[in-house]
Amino acid sequence: MSEIAEEMRQRPDRGDVATYIPELARADRQAFGIAVIDNAGQIAAAGDCETLFSAQSITKVFTLTLALGMVGDRLWRRVGREPSGNPFNSIVQLELEKGVPRNPFINAGAIAVTDVILSGHQPREALGEILRFMRELAEDPTIAIDEAVAASEKRTGFRNVALANFMKSYGVLDNPVDFTLGVYFHHCAIAMSCRQLAMAGRYLAHEGRNPATGFLVISPERARRINAIMLTCGHYDGSGEFAYRVGLPGKSGVGGGILAIAPGKASIAVWSPGLDAAGNSHLGRIALETLTKRMGWSIFGD
Ligand code: GLN
Repeated sequence: MSEIAEEMRQRPDRGDVATYIPELARADRQAFGIAVIDNAGQIAAAGDCETLFSAQSITKVFTLTLALGMVGDRLWRRVGREPSGNPFNSIVQLELEKGVPRNPFINAGAIAVTDVILSGHQPREALGEILRFMRELAEDPTIAIDEAVAASEKRTGFRNVALANFMKSYGVLDNPVDFTLGVYFHHCAIAMSCRQLAMAGRYLAHEGRNPATGFLVISPERARRINAIMLTCGHYDGSGEFAYRVGLPGKSGVGGGILAIAPGKASIAVWSPGLDAAGNSHLGRIALETLTKRMGWSIFGD
């Protein structure tokens, strides 16, 4: 990990930090962190692996897990599971598909999933549920929401407001749009380090089980399927390129983090705030490509 962190530090190409959420524009472009937790629970980490960053869309893996636990396969009436081939905040397919988003990882899909979690709860309770789940998975009660990021996104999230209203017009959302968006903006604003994220992702590398406690987070079948959706949709219109280069299920966020899963082997988190054209971490992807190549971890073989 130290070798990879050093190689990344020396590269001149870094991508650009997201600026459409003003608070994210403050991130340090030079930062790079990586943390890997293997089957036996051993942690290897390097660089800025303890620095907190905005998890953003990576939290969509955990809201999908929660929602599947709550309503089971009925969730798939609200959201599809096909790659979109479009940017994460695109609205075009919603009209063609009657307000049902393509998959749970594009913004529209994640907003629909959040709406399912919210049903029957107050927004504060739903958010508490999501946060509790993340803390439990990461075995870290200090994980919290960065209120400045949440407020920043709420102030400027006009596109997400449009997506949510569009879905609401088709009856895809059950709750008041501002309640659903409030929970969505806040869960995207959860701040985590690479180490915490890698800890939280362990169940996906171990057939749904927390390997340390043996606790079954989700059935092996669901874990396998979440990994499949991460592989096909986790990087939006960059998912094909990520599968081609890295060969692991992965989920990115505009904060520059990526959670990647080597099934049966390891849970991996990388962070570098500079993004590529599709809004995925530029160095994060390159670091993962380097790692999977050296370890022979691609799910498609050595
Ligand atoms: N909160 C961000 C948004 O809604 C999440 C996007 C992302 O991480 N790709 O735009």
